[in-house]
Amino acid sequence: TYVVTENCIMCKYTDCVEVCPVDCFYEGENTLVIHPDECIDCGVCEPECPADAIRPDTEPDMETWVEFNRKYAENW
Ligand code: SF4
Repeated sequence: TYVVTENCIMCKYTDCVEVCPVDCFYEGENTLVIHPDECIDCGVCEPECPADAIRPDTEPDMETWVEFNRKYAENW
């Protein structure tokens, strides 16, 4: 899955939401989030993010961000 990370805070762009083929972006408190079970790992959102906030969970130390994204996506 891809996850939204801290650079998203207060970002007003939704370029990522517009390109996602499965509409798995949700609104968190200060960020957008990606539902980890709905993301199909296509990667098209990553280059669209002007804040470089969208990262693959295969990068190191992403467990916390996966849980952060899941928490807000599931409570939407
Ligand atoms: Fe949506 Fe693809 Fe980004 Fe996952 S990687 S959030 S499916 S655009």
